[in-house]
Amino acid sequence: MIHILKHGLSLCQTFLDVPAKWPPGHLWVSFESEDDITKYASCDDCLKLVEPARSVLFCPKCGKQHLDVGEFATRVHRTHLCENTPEGPKTGCGHLWRPKKTPTFGVDSASVKV
Ligand SMILES: [Zn+2]
Ligand SMILES: [Zn+2]
Ligand SMILES: [Zn+2]
Repeated sequence: MIHILKHGLSLCQTFLDVPAKWPPGHLWVSFESEDDITKYASCDDCLKLVEPARSVLFCPKCGKQHLDVGEFATRVHRTHLCENTPEGPKTGCGHLWRPKKTPTFGVDSASVKV
């Protein structure tokens, strides 16, 4: 089980001790590099608590861009439903997919900070 370590504690707070006192079999990745987090972390509770990344998402099935609007603009989620596209509400194909292990918000390219 690989947790995400931020400020010396696992995000999921399963153990309130420093990692040196964790039971065997539990490791961590540091919060600093987001790539490493999504690649190596395996603790679901930790992954859920990572700040959502804003990214430009495309449905792998129909290829339309995925926009998180309305309640999904504020509700943290990892699995996206192809529904709202730049063409308007309910114009997606209904496909469900998970672009990353950590939460994401699908935004149009104009609102992604570079
Ligand atoms: Zn954890
Ligand atoms: Zn789709
Ligand atoms: Zn979404």
